[in-house]
Amino acid sequence: MTSFTELNIHPSILKALEAEGYTNPTPIQEKAIPLILKHKDILGCAQTGTGKTAAFAIPIIQILSEEKIDPNVKRKLRCLILTPTRELAIQIGESFANYGRNSDLKYRVIYGGVKQHKQVEALRQGVDILIATPGRLLDLVGQKHLSLHTIQFFVLDEADRMLDMGFVHDVKKVIKNLPSKRQSLFFSATMPPDILKLAGSILVNPSKVEVTPVSSTAEKINQAVYMVDKENKNKLLIHILKDPAIERVLVFTRTKHGADKVTKELIRNQIPSLAIHGNKSQNSRQEALKKFKAKTIRVLVATDIAARGIDIDELTHVINYELPNIPESYVHRIGRTGRAGASGITFGFCSADEKEFLRDIEKLIKIKVPVIEEHPFPLLNHHVQKPAPKPQRPPRAERTSSNPGVAKKSSFGKKRSFFKR
Ligand code: AMP
Repeated sequence: MTSFTELNIHPSILKALEAEGYTNPTPIQEKAIPLILKHKDILGCAQTGTGKTAAFAIPIIQILSEEKIDPNVKRKLRCLILTPTRELAIQIGESFANYGRNSDLKYRVIYGGVKQHKQVEALRQGVDILIATPGRLLDLVGQKHLSLHTIQFFVLDEADRMLDMGFVHDVKKVIKNLPSKRQSLFFSATMPPDILKLAGSILVNPSKVEVTPVSSTAEKINQAVYMVDKENKNKLLIHILKDPAIERVLVFTRTKHGADKVTKELIRNQIPSLAIHGNKSQNSRQEALKKFKAKTIRVLVATDIAARGIDIDELTHVINYELPNIPESYVHRIGRTGRAGASGITFGFCSADEKEFLRDIEKLIKIKVPVIEEHPFPLLNHHVQKPAPKPQRPPRAERTSSNPGVAKKSSFGKKRSFFKR
């Protein structure tokens, strides 16, 4: 096994890695670090949990801290890391702070949903490395608080998620603002054609680095599924949480409303928990994460987007309270436990109408997920209940505040109730 020393990493960074408890590089670090140190562009296919943040952060810190800068001149922005969510941005910022603790580089994290004043002030003083979400970055560039023309390193993190979240135009705008002479590192968990096309527009003669395809991550995680009726899922969750071995658990629901409901029920049963999702303010999401990391709460209930990339050491369990309809989401969700080679445990709750999701998941991961037969709330209703037809809501722009279910006008120009379809 290669050691970090063999990767020609500077002793000051080695010391920081030692303090982090890292003994050997992960496969992506072993592959990517030497290439980045040789100034190659990278097309990296890797998801969170593989150690990809350190794979790009370590060589960037090394190269940037070797460059001589004039202490009397304001620092130029030399590295931009673009990432889709605030949580990821903060996490990457923490990683830079950890690995670069013995350097004098200045880094800053910027994201939306909070006032911009402090971010602007920090930028005014000069930073070397900026970790940003696309919207706020473009806002600040538009207001001329920041210019990207001095960038040497551009990292696009979680490119597939970036596109899923509808950031493609923002990403393209950011790229237009970058100098053409730069080193670019592109990371994505999946490489569908639209992602490869985007990568092609950013990278020059890239080296490809691939680790752990999405389906094989699942192999190292201990998985099981409970067949249970929808209305008994809360009771089953509370029953399972009686096991003290479940020290810190991330529970996934499909909707924000679902996350709130489950959290309420847990709290009612004296199980300290908090919800984290897109409707929560940035502060309350950070607060929840902090409490979870500090073990003040035992259960964090999350939706996919909010939990994407969340990095919590020693997360013992992931519970899929609702199975996701996109099988790749299952792999991402369970990948929150079993980070960087550790083994994790995951349970799924499957009701009659989720059986097809389970089949899709098993097809993707090529594993038959064992069913736990013995439990107090076995599935009684095996038939898929067709939900009552939902009133279809018109697009947001067409709703009126007085009558949110009725469009002002249909596309044919007549007033039409959407309850009557
Ligand atoms: P990432 O894929 O960047 O989100 O990293 C996943 C987790 O792996 C984080 O908790 C890192 O602290 C941890 N990690 C990264 N590199 C190493 C390493 N070489 N040895 C042990 N843990 C690591």
